[in-house]
Amino acid sequence: MKKYCIIIILLLNFSSIAQKTNICANAACDSISKISHPELSLRKIKYEQVLEIYMKGQQNFRIAAEIIRIPVVVHVIHNQVSNAFLGTNISDEQVFSQIKVINEDYRRKIGTMGFNSNAIGADTEIEFFLANIDPDGKPSSGITRSFSSKTSFNIINDNDRLIMSNLSYWDSNKYLNIWVAPLSSGYIGYGEFPYAETVEGLETEATENLDGVYIDYTTFGKKTGTNTKGLYSFGRTTTHEIGHWLGLYHPWGDERCGTDYVADTPQSTGANSSAFCKDVFSTCAGTRTRNLIEDYMDYSPDSCMNIFTQGQKDRMRAALELSKRRRRVVNFAKFQLPPSSTLQAVIFPNPTISTNVQVQVLLPNFQDFEVKISDIFGREVYTESFSDLPSTIVTLKTKDLPAGNYFLTVTSNIQKVQKRLALF
Ligand SMILES: [Zn+2]
Repeated sequence: MKKYCIIIILLLNFSSIAQKTNICANAACDSISKISHPELSLRKIKYEQVLEIYMKGQQNFRIAAEIIRIPVVVHVIHNQVSNAFLGTNISDEQVFSQIKVINEDYRRKIGTMGFNSNAIGADTEIEFFLANIDPDGKPSSGITRSFSSKTSFNIINDNDRLIMSNLSYWDSNKYLNIWVAPLSSGYIGYGEFPYAETVEGLETEATENLDGVYIDYTTFGKKTGTNTKGLYSFGRTTTHEIGHWLGLYHPWGDERCGTDYVADTPQSTGANSSAFCKDVFSTCAGTRTRNLIEDYMDYSPDSCMNIFTQGQKDRMRAALELSKRRRRVVNFAKFQLPPSSTLQAVIFPNPTISTNVQVQVLLPNFQDFEVKISDIFGREVYTESFSDLPSTIVTLKTKDLPAGNYFLTVTSNIQKVQKRLALF
């Protein structure tokens, strides 16, 4: 059993005043005090423990300001026999419009709907791009298209998500998979939550090939193709579900006055279920506060939303560091180099002097490796270890080494390769 939060919005009475009812339909949405699924609840508790320790270690500075870039693959699951860009076989333009929205929202871009002037509003410094290369290292548009005669998918059902994944899936250690399909039962989105694998006993993450985000084709993209009208036509369903993929809960913690483990989001009694952007107030623990209905993690109509808070930003960036699979996606994105069945190393610049040497290391999958530099007498002058990286480029701090001839050795778990290095 995996599962994760996520969810869900049910469209009711869509023809007149559109409303949505929020349903928390799976175990991960349980509060800790209402444990109904011991294994899942334990994971949630452990995840929060890991996050808390990490956050305390970061208390004197904001979590790294480096821009994190996430490669995305959009799997369009459609039932168009002719393969024409009709109905469920949404156009590339619709996909592009969605990628644009998530970047505006996560970067709080000035001049877009993703901007807010709220003091607690954050530029998460997380970006998304359609993957340039596929899992085999071949150039790609980052969009796949798969035919299925199945006309609707129930995303709360593992089997239905497995059907989608079996039609098209890219390694979730390297990509954020987004499946776009006709979803059933009123669900318009679903996102898998990250787990903290670094805690003893928590080695099991969500099943790899189901990890990602699932969006209904009528709420994907912004004002384009199959999503031109209604409460969810600005592309914020995907913003919300990726928030879950990055470890965010709903602001009300899926129970009355529950917690989302974020300090700067006001407590609320429940979801904003209004079809309008009017103020909503909650009284929790005797204090009346205004709900942050603009939060992407609420159930507000798309047009009301424009904020991730600083606290949510910190939490998402921590997830990208703490969840092994999320961290791997970030590391892969830095260079997007293809895997190699044999260990390879290319040094550049070489020869060089007074600059740091870089080494392109190609290897299979993800591995630990060590780089050593020895002089011509075999004396070791430099060693650095790297853990759990895909094919990558590492920068060595070599600019102060004396001029001379050296040997550079890269050793992985199973292979070793040696190159000459000249510092002149
Ligand atoms: Zn949700």
